[in-house]
Amino acid sequence: MNLILLGPPGCGKGTQATYIVKKYDYVQLSTGDMLREAIKNNTPTGKVVKDVLASGKLVNNELIMQIMKEKIEETATSPGRIFDGFPRTLSQAESLNALLSQNNLSIDLLIELVVNQEELFERITKRASESESVRDDDNADVLRKRLDVYNKETKPIIAFYEKDFFVNKIDGMQDISTVNKLIDKLIENNTKH
Ligand code: AMP
Repeated sequence: MNLILLGPPGCGKGTQATYIVKKYDYVQLSTGDMLREAIKNNTPTGKVVKDVLASGKLVNNELIMQIMKEKIEETATSPGRIFDGFPRTLSQAESLNALLSQNNLSIDLLIELVVNQEELFERITKRASESESVRDDDNADVLRKRLDVYNKETKPIIAFYEKDFFVNKIDGMQDISTVNKLIDKLIENNTKH
């Protein structure tokens, strides 16, 4: 099962991915988490991307695809992969199609978590102001930038996928467990027993 979770920063992709991983034993492929890990460990990649993440801009497509190519090969025996925060550009979406077909894989399920971005913005800035372990890019300025980047660079990939696939839309403003249940149903209906 290759499942792509789409939606703007803060819409709950990570939260939902964690839940799916637990229940179905899939792997979560979050490029954001991989990049933060590289920064934490001060690897060569980490050094290159640190400022990019702090600015809210996107890391270049080549680097992201290089990381993703390795991860797809590494997870060959996994029952499923959840792509979270990837692809983020049309170029990445096209490269992912090529990468999957080279590995005899395909996209099985696409889910977009639809949220009201203004409300989301309020929610995240409030959470960041109350939390002790705040991400560098969870402040109001950078978040505004991340939402802009999402609308300009990432949102168009939904229409790109809709040419060939059905993109399942879920209202991401509902509570976490309601969203869980809806995702669950989609996975159940898409899994060959
Ligand atoms: P996220 O945790 O998915 O919100 O990602 C945090 C940051 O990592 C983004 O604002 C980007 O700077 C970078 N990033 C994560 N995934 C990608 C990707 N697929 N393409 C480019 N940049 C990414």
